[in-house]
Amino acid sequence: MPTLIPVYQPDLSGKELEYVTDCVKSGWVSSLGKYVELFETSFAKFCGVKHAIALSNGTVALHLALVLKDIGPGDEVIVPDLTFVATANVVRHTGATPVLVDSDPETWMIDPDQIEAKITSKTKAIIPVHLYGHPANMGAIMKLAKKHGLYVIEDAAEAHGAEYRGKRVGGIGDIGAFSFYGNKVITTGEGGMLVTNDDLLAEKARFLKDHAMSKEIRYWHPEVGYNYRMTNIQAAIGLAQFERIDSLLSRKIEIALAYKKSLAGCRGVVVQPQAEWAKNIYWMFSILVTDESRLNRNELMSSLLEQGIDSRPFFFPIHQMPPYLGCLGDYPVADDLSRRGINLPSFPALKDEQVKYIGDTICRLCN
Ligand SMILES: *Cc1c(COP(=O)(O)O)cnc(C)c1O
Repeated sequence: MPTLIPVYQPDLSGKELEYVTDCVKSGWVSSLGKYVELFETSFAKFCGVKHAIALSNGTVALHLALVLKDIGPGDEVIVPDLTFVATANVVRHTGATPVLVDSDPETWMIDPDQIEAKITSKTKAIIPVHLYGHPANMGAIMKLAKKHGLYVIEDAAEAHGAEYRGKRVGGIGDIGAFSFYGNKVITTGEGGMLVTNDDLLAEKARFLKDHAMSKEIRYWHPEVGYNYRMTNIQAAIGLAQFERIDSLLSRKIEIALAYKKSLAGCRGVVVQPQAEWAKNIYWMFSILVTDESRLNRNELMSSLLEQGIDSRPFFFPIHQMPPYLGCLGDYPVADDLSRRGINLPSFPALKDEQVKYIGDTICRLCN
């Protein structure tokens, strides 16, 4: 068997080790230290926003975004049915109720046309997710949010640098949440970031992430806060990663184009879309296996593994999982995408020959 091509591996070939060594040698290993601020400032600029607040992971970034608006029991928050589970879990962590919306078959993102029917007097927020690197239809979503007075939290965990009509995600809604988990576009090991143009939200986020400690009186805590801080070591890795973000993103797009080329005309396979208003950064290059294919999705994944190619199935729709069985309604598009979808190897060090080998192998197996 050929050596396995993994789905993802982080590219840590820049100044990561140098900056981490600096943290260790200088003793600034906890959440004070220069790298946190440098990483925040750079990332805010990249997203075109005033504020970026570094946090311990992407899930707490989403949770804190809800807490900032006092969202809790009795409130409803709209989330897509097809997303990573954390998007729905954070709503439950606050005591609020996630309300699921099906996907748009054209973009695979939350279907804006189905959102309005799910808005009630209890709805407080929408969390659009930029899934697998493609932006959600933010124009339509912001219009609805404005009409109904809803707070918009972008879940941009998988889409650093993706654009809706030329505007980078994260800074389009009221607030945006990013993840720097090991397989995300850039990593800090574990890590997250909130970005916003709203001074008050930013100030409150900084306060709450640090145990809600008063700025004036040390160890005085006027509210119940959290420890959601990022460490200087995480930020040191993040800054080194960030220094190469442009080349990492362009490599991901090159890989996607190479996949599209090698899969063009391949029967039984639909490739990841890009809406005309979108810049997809193809976090995980993805395909759907159609009924035309000789093998179904799971059979294809097993056969690929035998050929030394690792892959991942799409997320399960939220409504199918035990904690969310109470979410009634039909989600036929999410069910279908989830049943057919595969994420292919998409890491920046993937070679063109490997992409061609994977594409050719898929075509051969499906036809
Ligand atoms: C990764 C991810 C998260 C959670 O981020 P962590 O840093 O792993 O906590 C949230 N939403 C989506 C869509 C993700 O892909």
